[in-house]
Amino acid sequence: MKKTLVTGISGQDAAYLSKKLLNEGHHVVGGLRRGAERTLWRLKSLDILNDIEIIDLELTELSEILSIVSKYKFDYIYNLAAMSFVGTSFGQPISTANTNYIGALNILESIKSVNPDSRFYQASTSEMFGKVQEMPQKESTPFYPRSPYGVSKLAAHWATINYRESYGLFSCSGILFNHESPLRGSEFVTQKIVLGLNAIKNGLLDKVVLGNLNAKRDWGHADDYVSAMKLILENNVAEDYVVATGNLFSVREFCELAAKYFDFEINWVGESSQEKGIDKKSGKIIFEVSKEFYRPAEVDILHGDPTLIETKLGWKRKHTFESLVLDMCENAKNYAALN
Ligand code: NDP
Ligand code: GDP
Repeated sequence: MKKTLVTGISGQDAAYLSKKLLNEGHHVVGGLRRGAERTLWRLKSLDILNDIEIIDLELTELSEILSIVSKYKFDYIYNLAAMSFVGTSFGQPISTANTNYIGALNILESIKSVNPDSRFYQASTSEMFGKVQEMPQKESTPFYPRSPYGVSKLAAHWATINYRESYGLFSCSGILFNHESPLRGSEFVTQKIVLGLNAIKNGLLDKVVLGNLNAKRDWGHADDYVSAMKLILENNVAEDYVVATGNLFSVREFCELAAKYFDFEINWVGESSQEKGIDKKSGKIIFEVSKEFYRPAEVDILHGDPTLIETKLGWKRKHTFESLVLDMCENAKNYAALN
């Protein structure tokens, strides 16, 4: 039986990944930082909470990680734990760096010291491309991070490469573009839009207030993306891959499609921070823009090229942009009950 550690077990990706690992017979050990128990609703919602061995794991504590890696001698380690929200990273750059960079380094150093046969997956991100240097972005595209989050993840990305090249560890990264699902945190724009629309429909919210409507992202479904993580780590060669759909949509387009599901037809009026999205039938303001949600440095566009992982590892996606939005909208009604 393969022994596999998934850090950040209370997060979106950890839930989908653990489900697949359990189905394939892995003994899944989930790293949970203290105080995160309330967020185990994701594991409950996929009905896998009782099948995972949950252990305390604070990514910034080297001694704790060292003793865990030494005790379990994992076959695979997926490092999914992170301070993962770009917006918050501007206000908390130091703790973001500690968790996202030093945390990854703690695991790499532990593997190197006590169990060098363990394979290591690092959750790298398209935010490392930031101010994009090429369209679309692929494995060879130069990086240009635009947030403390992007910078911290880029440091961890290079550490993962460095431990591979210096010490021969099987350490690799998936450079994942934005991926969403009904289990996505409510601070991210897709879930904020969907939950907000559901709340408006139920008379619990007046309108959804957003930042930059013109930002464009390459949005995929988390369930498809965790399959890519497995392909990367289970391949016979340690290599880094871009994981994306190759399709591009704006925040505005996401708003329009989700609004349609909730029976709103959006007409945009005004410009910039004065812009509003008004429902054609009722005349009610559904979306409003506020500078509060603008970022100090914006990543205007992220557009990935998944050719390498598709051709080399045979990665396929089940979801389209439309089916992702539909899945999130359908589940929005149950979200409050689950959380
Ligand atoms: P989530 O934010 O849902 O999950 C992150 C997890 O990390 C949470 O369980 C969180 O615990 C945990 N965590 C945070 N800080 C620490 C710490 N100091 N020690 C231990 N655990 C900690 O992220 P996702 O599941 O969406 O993403 C998984 C990974 O992939 C992350 O590393 C993210 O940065 C990266 N990524 C995600 C993308 C996406 O679009 N989803 C795109 C590219 C990369 P708590 O519940 O206590 O907050
Ligand atoms: P990110 O790509 O990891 O930063 O994922 P987010 O979902 O947080 O943001 C995606 C894009 O949506 C970014 O360009 C944000 O600036 C933009 N955006 C516009 N309005 C909002 C908002 O109200 N909240 C968030 N989180 N993002 C917003």
